[in-house]
Formats: sequence, C-alpha cells, structure tokens
Amino acid sequence: MDCLFCKIIKGEIPSNKVYEDELIYAFRDINPQAPIHVLIIPKTHIASADEVNSENSAVIAHLFAKIPAIAKEQGLTGGYRIVTNCGDDACQSVHHLHFHLLGGRKLSETMS
Ligand code: 5GP
Ligand code: ZN
Repeated sequence: MDCLFCKIIKGEIPSNKVYEDELIYAFRDINPQAPIHVLIIPKTHIASADEVNSENSAVIAHLFAKIPAIAKEQGLTGGYRIVTNCGDDACQSVHHLHFHLLGGRKLSETMS
C-alpha cells in the first residue's frame, strides 16, 4: 500500500521520532502549526477516524492513554490541543489516521 505514514513507521521515509512503542508512533510534523506539533499514529493502517470500529479501537484507546506522557515530555504544562482531520471537508491530506498534538503557546479559540 502506498501510504506515507506506513512508510514513516517502517523507516523508509525519515522522521523526527518523539515516542514509539509496539502499537503507536509519534513524530514531529514537517510543517509545524505551533511551537510543539507532534503527529501520533497507530502502527496499523487505519485510514481515518471514520474507519475506527470495535475491531480496531483498542489501539486508539492505547494511543490516548499515552498522550498525557507524550505531552508532559514535550513540556506542554499549560495545556494542548488534540485534533484529527477526517475526510475531505476537514482537509485530511494523509489517509492514515493521525492525531495532531499542538501546543507551546496560547492556541486560537476557533477550531474551524
Ligand atoms: P492532515 O492535513 O491530514 O490532517 O495532516 C497531515 C499532516 O502531515 C500535515 O500537518 C503535514 O504537515 C504532515 N506531513 C505531511 N507529510 C509529512 C512528512 O513527510 N513528514 C512529516 N513529519 N509530516 C508530514
Ligand atoms: Zn498507512
């Protein structure tokens, strides 16, 4: 499958790793929208949040269980935002489910 983030997980495309375990991978976004902008992804290919179901949701629960530690390690003591873009209307550009972890400054009040 020709998936950019699957290639990053396999190390075929270089990335700046922040965290990794057997189920998830976290790395710096190549075009950061905030002082801290990390992408957190499941190692299994799930195309978007719209593809999450009872068969594959355990990895997403694990991913969310790791977010506080990743955020703390990045120094996000003042808070942070978790965002996932799902589908064309949300401008999802990479079709491997990813959660943007954003912080390091006061973020905008608007999300749309
Ligand atoms: P989306 O627009 O799908 O929500 O987010 C995709 C994100 O992936 C964007 O923020 C974009 O900057 C990031 N991105 C795209 N290609 C690469 C890449 O090759 N390496 C890294 N580290 N980030 C990427
Ligand atoms: Zn993938």
